[in-house]
Amino acid sequence: DRQWPRPGSCRIITIANQKGGVGKTTSSVNLAASLAQHGAQVLVVDLDPQGNASTALGIDHHADVPSIYDVLIEDTPLADIVVQAPEIPNLFCAPATLNLAGAEIELVSKVARESRLQRALEAYDTDKYDYVLIDCPPSLGLLTVNALVGGNELLIPIQCEYYALEGLGQLIRTVELVRSHLNPTLSVSTILLTMYDARTRLAAQVAEDVRNHFGDVVLKTVIPRSVRVSEAPSYGQSVITYDPGSSGALAYSEAASEIAHRNTGAAE
Ligand code: ADP
Ligand code: MG
Repeated sequence: DRQWPRPGSCRIITIANQKGGVGKTTSSVNLAASLAQHGAQVLVVDLDPQGNASTALGIDHHADVPSIYDVLIEDTPLADIVVQAPEIPNLFCAPATLNLAGAEIELVSKVARESRLQRALEAYDTDKYDYVLIDCPPSLGLLTVNALVGGNELLIPIQCEYYALEGLGQLIRTVELVRSHLNPTLSVSTILLTMYDARTRLAAQVAEDVRNHFGDVVLKTVIPRSVRVSEAPSYGQSVITYDPGSSGALAYSEAASEIAHRNTGAAE
């Protein structure tokens, strides 16, 4: 595969939307796999207690596995929990286990509770990566806040359906708060339209509304609804390796190429 340009320093991209089922995990895993396949060193940080990103990358995340919970709550160094994903040699994962569900509460009484992931990333040698992608849970709780504080860029996946824009105001306000108090470097760099069904007028309408509202931040590439995309995780694979010629794999690869070629994506 052709190599894409690599960023001068590590881009830490948080993938968040408090709505569930919009394609956060699917996008984290498949963008990460595409970037890795084109020569980048990539780390996926799984910050969802469900551990779906870990599963989709073929990573063991049963209860005893050292995980991002230990990093956030026990000050375990990231280096001690990061593992290599089996499908692509330069793709890595910081797995999540179910005990992370308790972290949302346990973090409340911790010092610098919003900045624990940021601190862990700073203490870790992230410069060996080109990209760190942080997959968030479907809420705006402390785990997602940690991801927003730890990242430089926010990627928002939006599902092309009727309620797509609902709740985005709340997400953007949270980003503003994080930016003014905790992480001035955070920018909304990327919006990705997911699960697009070209047969419906509604999907086209939603896509148009999002583009009118957010402009160039929205990637040109739209991810189509594709059965292969939803099948891949049960094989512990991204769709990029599971079915490279499928419409979903090609679209995720194209979206990842756009991200790689937008050097920082620093538009706001
Ligand atoms: P989130 O992480 O935001 O909760 P997921 O990435 O887990 O969302 O996606 C929700 C569900 O939709 C999953 O079952 C996933 O396999 C499926 N899905 C995501 N993207 C697509 C797509 N492009 N085509 C078909 N199914 C998809
Ligand atoms: Mg998810």
